[in-house]
Amino acid sequence: MFATLSDRLTATFKSLRGKGRLTEADVDATVREIRRALLDADVALPVVREFTSRIRERATGAEVQQNLNPAQQVVKIVNEELVAILGGETRRLRFSKNPPTVIMLAGLQGAGKTTLAGKLGRHLKQNGNRPLLVACDLQRPNAVNQLQITGERAGVDVFAPEPGNGVGDPVSVARQGLEHARHHHYDVVVVDTAGRTGVDAEMMQQAIDIRAAVTPDEVLFVLDAMVGQDAVATAEAFRDGVGFDGVVLTKLDGDARGGAALSVRQVTGQPVMFASTGEKLDDFELFHPDRMASRILDMGDVLSLIEQAEKAFDADQAQAMAAKFAADEDFTLDDFLQQLNAVRNMGSLKKMLGMLPGMAQMRQQLDAFDEREFDRIEAMVRSMTPLERRQPRIMNGSRRARVAAGCGQSTSAVNDMLERFGQAQKMMRSLRNGMAGGTGIPGMP
Ligand code: GDP
Repeated sequence: MFATLSDRLTATFKSLRGKGRLTEADVDATVREIRRALLDADVALPVVREFTSRIRERATGAEVQQNLNPAQQVVKIVNEELVAILGGETRRLRFSKNPPTVIMLAGLQGAGKTTLAGKLGRHLKQNGNRPLLVACDLQRPNAVNQLQITGERAGVDVFAPEPGNGVGDPVSVARQGLEHARHHHYDVVVVDTAGRTGVDAEMMQQAIDIRAAVTPDEVLFVLDAMVGQDAVATAEAFRDGVGFDGVVLTKLDGDARGGAALSVRQVTGQPVMFASTGEKLDDFELFHPDRMASRILDMGDVLSLIEQAEKAFDADQAQAMAAKFAADEDFTLDDFLQQLNAVRNMGSLKKMLGMLPGMAQMRQQLDAFDEREFDRIEAMVRSMTPLERRQPRIMNGSRRARVAAGCGQSTSAVNDMLERFGQAQKMMRSLRNGMAGGTGIPGMP
């Protein structure tokens, strides 16, 4: 997400390091670099202009703080301005006082609406709501079916028109869906609508009609972040057509240059509320302008990381581990495996590591990281006997060869794994002795 932009900005700030004060020439050069980086990331020109003029004004102004060096000051200013163009405060869903709350999705075909409906449904369900997805995309062949499959995966009910019951009128399906939700006490209704590959009058009219029929509490405009400069024109067309209250950016996982994210709020006046970062149901997050700015500036998004960790780690497991720690018991391969699995449950490791500060410089290593490594380690540990897992020092040559054969790996892979485990064990010991270091993830240097 925003990898190139992030790299460019970080490089710009780096060139300011070590400077005692900023000359006008420094500010000029920095602003020019920021401007180029933003334009290359497809940020809309008016947004770039306003952004850079704010940076220039503040960097040359009297905003000098005693405790920050010039490079830090510029980062601080850019960070604050980024948060501002991303919308400032996190905008959360507004729920109706008279349920069901109705959320309508609008956007071009392929933007990711149907996928999003599933993600949103699951998110709502995890937060204690009882959502219903309503399939009003009757244009795209298979869209209804796709929503049914997505809903099933997400564990969320779907209201779909009866097959064969005429071609179907999306407006009446939307109405029936809402009626069904009232009847069966669903408290949130997510209406998936049709999109075309380009904006056209008929599609927009249909969206307007559905809006009139179900009077949604929130209309969310779903925007594919990969479309670059076109994003702005599309967003404007939807703003002037059906209108919307918030934006969902999808496909932020791709090599999206991110311009859409940075422009859309400023251009349409509506906030980005959610980000979709992959095809899986879990690849979905609330859009926090401050955290996103931190990520772009490679200051790390430690808060998101902690939230994900909280979801993944089971409290009982953590307590058992803590008790073990306190009792001075040694860290075994079973513990190692358990921790590895907990880390794996947090989602893509690459994505997680990307949220840590300073990761921009490590991007290449990060891209080369193969997540299947986890599976290999797990297979090896599972091929060991319980005694071997507790006392890995008994692993001589023939035991190593047996484990390798047992899980179809090479002996050197087993050696590597044991070596890594040895490091993790050492780290656990030093942690116990109060000398924390490294990434804090056992087995990861
Ligand atoms: P719709 O026409 O707006 O309903 O779009 P779909 O939900 O069918 O999505 C179109 C394609 O984009 C599908 O292949 C999805 O799997 C994919 N997709 C949706 N959201 C994301 C995302 O956040 N990241 C990636 N990489 N793919 C996505």
